Amino acid sequence: MLLGPPGAGKGTMAGGLANSAGLAVFVTGDVLRAAIAGGSELGIKVKSTVEAGRLVDDETILSLAQEFLRTHSQGALFDGFPRTIKQAEGLRSLLSAEDELRVVYLDTSKETIVARLGARRVCPECGRIYNVRFKPPRNDEICDDCNASLICRKDDTDEVIKSRYELYLAETAPLVNYFSEELLKVNGDLPGEEVLEIVRGELCPA
Ligand code: AMP
Repeated sequence: MLLGPPGAGKGTMAGGLANSAGLAVFVTGDVLRAAIAGGSELGIKVKSTVEAGRLVDDETILSLAQEFLRTHSQGALFDGFPRTIKQAEGLRSLLSAEDELRVVYLDTSKETIVARLGARRVCPECGRIYNVRFKPPRNDEICDDCNASLICRKDDTDEVIKSRYELYLAETAPLVNYFSEELLKVNGDLPGEEVLEIVRGELCPA
């Protein structure tokens, strides 16, 4: 699983790591955003919570994770889950004795987070993530892969970024200690490609 504040680069890391390690990726934020866009019962329930940058209740998130693990028993990469101690306890209870849990912690400064999230753009078609300062698309605000106009996430406004970071410190940062036995700590301030190389070297040695 990937642990770190919003903007630590978990999404970028998930794509790269899943390919190398052959894991199915569970991105809770993407699942929730897709449910909102599709207007499903889940989407209607979580819309205001997600758009305000608050946390969806543990029970809802744990049932999504449980379903994902049930259908992907060969290995999974979690991006954005667990985010509370209760979810972490829930994850442990879903794993069997043979399962090996590894936790990659992207230790990232507040300055980096603010700089990244304010400039983050996402392709609404394929989900590819860009940064208009550090990793811009070839053509202004247009996805390199599918030509769609890039969007700014509703929860990437200055005010919501600040409250998501505070929520991270209060609810999610304690997981660093909770998972101290399984933790691989990496400097999340480094460029994404460098972080990916370090993590690949540790988790997927040739
Ligand atoms: P993310 O894309 O990971 O930043 O997630 C976007 C939003 O989805 C968060 O701000 C929360 O509202 C919600 N969310 C994603 N993962 C979780 C989780 N594990 N627990 C509760 N809420 C979540």
